[in-house]
Amino acid sequence: MSYDWLVIGGGASGLTAATLLAQEGHRVALVEKNPCLAPLLRGFRRGDFHFDTGFHYTGGLGRGEILDLFFRCLGLSERLRTTPFDLTGFDRVREPGQAEFAFPVGEERLEERLCREFPGQERAISGYLAEVRRACAVHPYLDLEAPLAGSGTFFGLEGTSLQEMLSRWTDHPRLQRLFSVHTLLYGVPPEEAPFSLHASVVGPYYQSVHGLVGGGLALAEAFAARLTELGIDIFLGRGAQELLFTPAGTLRGARLEDGTIVETRGCVATLHPALLPGMVPEGVFRPVYRRRLLALEDSLPAFTLYGVCRKANSLLHGRNIFLLGNLENGLDDTIYLTAADNGPASGSGLVAIAPLPPGATDRWKDSVTGRRPPEYEAYKAEQAAHLVRRIEEGCPELGGIKVTATATALTMRDYLHTPRGGLYGVRHRLGQYNPQRRTRVANLLLAGQGVAAPGVLGAVLSGFLACGDVIGHEQLRERVKACR
Ligand SMILES: Cc1cc2nc3c(=O)[nH]c(=O)nc-3n(C[C@H](O)[C@H](O)[C@H](O)COP(=O)(O)OP(=O)(O)OC[C@H]3O[C@@H](n4cnc5c(N)ncnc54)[C@H](O)[C@@H]3O)c2cc1C
Repeated sequence: MSYDWLVIGGGASGLTAATLLAQEGHRVALVEKNPCLAPLLRGFRRGDFHFDTGFHYTGGLGRGEILDLFFRCLGLSERLRTTPFDLTGFDRVREPGQAEFAFPVGEERLEERLCREFPGQERAISGYLAEVRRACAVHPYLDLEAPLAGSGTFFGLEGTSLQEMLSRWTDHPRLQRLFSVHTLLYGVPPEEAPFSLHASVVGPYYQSVHGLVGGGLALAEAFAARLTELGIDIFLGRGAQELLFTPAGTLRGARLEDGTIVETRGCVATLHPALLPGMVPEGVFRPVYRRRLLALEDSLPAFTLYGVCRKANSLLHGRNIFLLGNLENGLDDTIYLTAADNGPASGSGLVAIAPLPPGATDRWKDSVTGRRPPEYEAYKAEQAAHLVRRIEEGCPELGGIKVTATATALTMRDYLHTPRGGLYGVRHRLGQYNPQRRTRVANLLLAGQGVAAPGVLGAVLSGFLACGDVIGHEQLRERVKACR
């Protein structure tokens, strides 16, 4: 079995890379440790409800916007139907003692509403929004007209923190908190988050907001059909264990967990970058690079609750709720609520995600899914009861919640094969090395949310970034532009 390219990991980034390379005529294999493709996107079914796990909504999917163009370029669009979120308020923020704030779709409407809500803060509001626009406009894969020249990283995660930028514009605590609420979409607190990361995640949401009919599962299935169409060989249920090199240090293949050897001339690895050093013989990477990858911290751990509302309601139809705690707690006790399935016929199933303190489940780190001790189950039940209480208080229109399932960082770790189970893999924070797509080994490229940004857009974009090195960035961008 010999290939031009082996892609490790069958999430949104790996599926993107495999598709792009096969579209170029390369012979491609993809290996995914889970028994199915795109485990994070698939969600799960319990009773009458399908629960989305790793995809609820996204920016950039309006006609001609960047994710729409990426999907067109990947040949997925024919298989996907988008569903717009509530134009008047796709994300609604509820805080104790305050009227609800609804983020409307569209930057102008957002600016107008913020200015109405925060008189006297007009300069801060327009300054913030202009800076988000500017930061997106310099990314060659967010803005296809941006120049390619520069360091060649194309996705810089350095500079100033979100908090520092906000403090330059305003000292209004509530406005700062509203601008920071979407840090939950990438799992880094405002003091540590590079403003460029923040802008690249929120910028596309400020333009348009969509779900997919059929949710993340529809995306997983569209990718699977495309891989079949392109003749990509897929190895499921056995991870890549070791990368193999010639004595001269040239990549020659990978050994899978069942002993299968896949020969390849190139590899795009999309697994958590901290796992890479364990797959590569000593001496291939410089010691400092190994150490940096091994030291990467994870984005926030979270507790996720999947449940069903007791009362029929339309609160979560085309919109999400961010339930915040008291102002002085920052965003630590935020709860993000979304419909179980954001399709047009979404019922009364819901998903609630709440950050957990780092290390909250470390006591049980030696246990594995399906074989956890009773204390862990008791902890989950207690967390779930606490969350249900807060949701019922903050959203009485739901009429109460019946819990269907819960997940912690340990669930994420075991399900997605990451070192610690942070919600979005690597914590892209200032002051640490943020992995780049190129490694010292020719033809060993990295992609995935750990390389660009979390979110389906970030993961797909990372696939384009890696493949741009193979195909040529200008050529690849021309191909994306041709989909306009
Ligand atoms: C609870 C939650 C909600 C989210 N909601 C949204 C949302 O509403 N909108 C949005 O845009 N994004 C959302 N995201 C983020 C988004 O799902 C992710 O950023 C994106 O899917 C990551 O894709 P990826 O390919 O980088 O990583 P992954 O999907 O994690 O893919 C990496 C793959 O590599 C596999 N793997 C690991 N080790 C090996 C090995 N040795 N060999 C082979 N395979 C291996 C893993 O099993 C995994 O499938 C959410 C994420 C979470 C956790």
